[in-house]
Amino acid sequence: MAGLILREDVDAVRERSHIDEIVGEQVTLRHAGEGSLKGLCPFHDEKSPSFHVRPQVGRWHCFGCGEGGDVISFVQKMDGLGFTDAVEYLAGKIGLQVRYEEGSERRTEEPGRRQRLLEANRIAAAYFVEQLQSPEAQTGRQFLTERSFTPADAAHFGVGYAPKGWDHLTNLLRQKGFNEAELVASGLVSQGNRGVYDRFRGRLMWPIRDVTGEPIGFGARKLYDDDQGPKYLNTPETALYKKSQVLYGIDLAKREIAKTKRIVVVEGYTDVMAAHLSGITTAVATCGTAFGTDHVRMARRLVGDTNAGGGVKLADGGSLGGEIIFTFDGDAAGQKAAMRAFNEDQRFYAQTFVAVEKSGMDPCDLRQHHGPQAVRALIEGRQPLFEFVIQTTLKSYDLNTAEGRIGALRACAPVIASIRYNALRPEYTR
Ligand code: ZN
Repeated sequence: MAGLILREDVDAVRERSHIDEIVGEQVTLRHAGEGSLKGLCPFHDEKSPSFHVRPQVGRWHCFGCGEGGDVISFVQKMDGLGFTDAVEYLAGKIGLQVRYEEGSERRTEEPGRRQRLLEANRIAAAYFVEQLQSPEAQTGRQFLTERSFTPADAAHFGVGYAPKGWDHLTNLLRQKGFNEAELVASGLVSQGNRGVYDRFRGRLMWPIRDVTGEPIGFGARKLYDDDQGPKYLNTPETALYKKSQVLYGIDLAKREIAKTKRIVVVEGYTDVMAAHLSGITTAVATCGTAFGTDHVRMARRLVGDTNAGGGVKLADGGSLGGEIIFTFDGDAAGQKAAMRAFNEDQRFYAQTFVAVEKSGMDPCDLRQHHGPQAVRALIEGRQPLFEFVIQTTLKSYDLNTAEGRIGALRACAPVIASIRYNALRPEYTR
């Protein structure tokens, strides 16, 4: 049982936290009249905003699902935290050291587990960045240079290097006072028969940050032939890092996504870097998993209010809100990925596009070989996902024969029928 935080400290945290800023990190808020802000509810699926925040009274309420509360309950619900952890998290944000009731377990010098895990990840991120300058990291620096990334680019994204060996980071974290249970919980170490050891060894490291910019995990690329592990190794599921809910680059992209109502989904860490450095600053990537329902919800929260304009205008005057653009290789695997995204699309309200590179280059290759303008051209040349799926389907039929045409029609009918927006349907039927 966690310690009880003194009542007056809980009240202080509640009063001094800016609820509009805390909510604003997760949900794009717009003014909704005197003393009120609104946005898309993070707790239920909706396409017009019924989630209201009133900063002066420090409360939020959703008229759609009926949820509501104060800043503490928002953090609890949003991040799946207990009351004490949520209060500690908010206290950390405003620089308040909370005190605990006498006799309760948690002492002031032992902040909550979440804070400890964040601290461990912060220390690891700084350590990896520092190690990228070491003589041993030459292969890592070369990997970046070969892909046209300068040291300044690497620094901007916090790219680092995990040295070979078994206990560099483990020892550093121990020196900093982390115990074995905390090390295991952080996902930075692996558990062996004789204790714990560094999970990431001899790899190039990308910190995966949450929307607030805090590193919560890492993506690590293999650099050496004698490394028996996978090409990419990520942090395992931890209390902080849930792969179905993280998007690499979201910390750097979120403001621009909210502003432009556009989110570009690329496939890897180097693609996110290449896209941002080419001016596509709304690019993000999933981390070792497909773009799923939780990602869709995150994207939609950031793209925001579908009725506020700025999105794709339809013939009937309505608006689809924003654009989600997936980039894919032009090869069979890329097309398969696009078809899979199409099935996910049923849950999108924003209009979905694909940007397919015919020669099979990813954004990183493109920038390296043809410059940043080629990356921008790829994104500008996007086409609606439906169109792409129909074209791809048609390719497998011989349209010169009656049988072929009937087959093609049958294959495309369900695609057309599933188009959510009636206004779009007649055009595709043709
Ligand atoms: Zn709601």
